[in-house]
Amino acid sequence: MTCRESRGNVNGCDARCPYFAPRIVASSVKPPPLYPLEKCYMRHIPTSGAASVIVVRRNPDKSLRAMFLSLDLWKVGIRECFVDVRLTEEQLTRELRAAKPPFEESTLSDCQQLVKAAERISREVGYPIPWEYDRWQSMLDDMKRVPDPPGSLYKCAKCGGDLPENAAALMKTYALQSDVQFYIVCRKCGGEFADEW
Ligand SMILES: [Zn+2]
Repeated sequence: MTCRESRGNVNGCDARCPYFAPRIVASSVKPPPLYPLEKCYMRHIPTSGAASVIVVRRNPDKSLRAMFLSLDLWKVGIRECFVDVRLTEEQLTRELRAAKPPFEESTLSDCQQLVKAAERISREVGYPIPWEYDRWQSMLDDMKRVPDPPGSLYKCAKCGGDLPENAAALMKTYALQSDVQFYIVCRKCGGEFADEW
């Protein structure tokens, strides 16, 4: 399997990788009209806060286009975004099968809300939003109409509920440091952080 097939999800593969680079180039053409939605997929990677979203639309020539988002819901928010403007159903199926843990089919609304939560994190911690996301976010429909999620910036690692303010603030403080990773659960799930300062 090449980096291109795994879409850059390989150690040491980034925009300089010759296999991954063509996708960056493919992302730099003009924003498209809104083609019909085909399918949405989502997956959460356990105990990491990482999640991925794929939004697939149908091109007029019946090929597919897909937006791939790599989210980091415990640190920087929207980590990566890229778009493949033309892929076949076989290519998409291969991508989906190769993913571990597997993707599950989702709704556009659920994907929008997850991406919005990541967008909010990026904004609040000062992590640069990938330009591909700015340019291609119409793949997700009108994200400006999706409200920010309520409650704490980061959520409990176990139940997804709100974290107390001091726990979320601590995670925010270290969000841009690559060597720090938190696994914080709410008090209900056995966390040590008190609900109040
Ligand atoms: Zn919890």
